Amino acid sequence: MQTPARRFCTKCRHLPAEVAANQNEPLCRQCLVSGMLSRFRNVIRLQQLIQPGDKVLAAASGGAASQAMLYCLLQIQNTNPERPDRGKVSFNLAVAHVDGDALLAEGRNVSSSGACNGHATVQSSNSAATWTSAETAINSLLRSHGPANQSPCHVLSLPFPSISPDRGQADASQQASMDPTSLSDSRHEQRDQLLREYARLQGCNRIAMGYSSTRLAILTIAEAAKGFGADIPASVQYLGPREQDASRPVIMRPMRDITAKDAAFLCHFLKLHVAAPSGSQKPSNPAASHRDINLLAMEFVNGLQATMPSGASAILRTASKLQ
Ligand SMILES: [Zn+2]
Repeated sequence: MQTPARRFCTKCRHLPAEVAANQNEPLCRQCLVSGMLSRFRNVIRLQQLIQPGDKVLAAASGGAASQAMLYCLLQIQNTNPERPDRGKVSFNLAVAHVDGDALLAEGRNVSSSGACNGHATVQSSNSAATWTSAETAINSLLRSHGPANQSPCHVLSLPFPSISPDRGQADASQQASMDPTSLSDSRHEQRDQLLREYARLQGCNRIAMGYSSTRLAILTIAEAAKGFGADIPASVQYLGPREQDASRPVIMRPMRDITAKDAAFLCHFLKLHVAAPSGSQKPSNPAASHRDINLLAMEFVNGLQATMPSGASAILRTASKLQ
């Protein structure tokens, strides 16, 4: 972890700085947490991501950015609609986790592109003992920071009752013929499909995805490399396009301005458990990573961030300008 020697927090000016947060701003742990929370609250309010009475499904991976999002959602939730609470919104929260290992079986040997340097940061600054399964990590957070009546995380996997098998799962022969990029794309498509379907069944009108700015920058590079540049603007906005069918939930990305590294620091400081990446985030076969555009994009953005902390934001800013 980067600990600037004897520097003071640039926000409160009296506590020693512990992290270089927000692209190199020396902060103490209290200011990192309160700063992230107030940024999160502002995004929710200014972008109108959650309105009173909404029912939000948090898509939880158990990773650092996802845990940080869940923590922030619980902090801004007013659980008593009868009593307005300044800075809080009254909404219902359901939490679901997609069991990655239940998706395309072969995907375990490839990797989802979910990894980002947030995991590495937590690993280096925490003992391995704080790494747990996603479900344990998510439920532990819900118990320690959620209201007493908060339902536990629902684990989704395939087959799913209302998703027909041929829509949900590629069979073994299809999987065998897929290249690593298509395989990891299919896993993401399956995961999103499960989340949308579960959200619809639960009557949720929003799905909150814990995409950090780092993760969205990786997605942007990967999509551009695959030739899907035209889809990028919609996939990096705070709020996804409204569906024609009003019963379909709209995707929101409230962590869009927060780096994976800052999210990892928040988890570390608040002692939130973070799940070990599902499957192998580093492919056992190195040749596979050079055939998976998603992994190459991840390596590129992580490498860029290491030398230029504002790299991910610059990519996102550029992508947002696309019309
Ligand atoms: Zn401070």
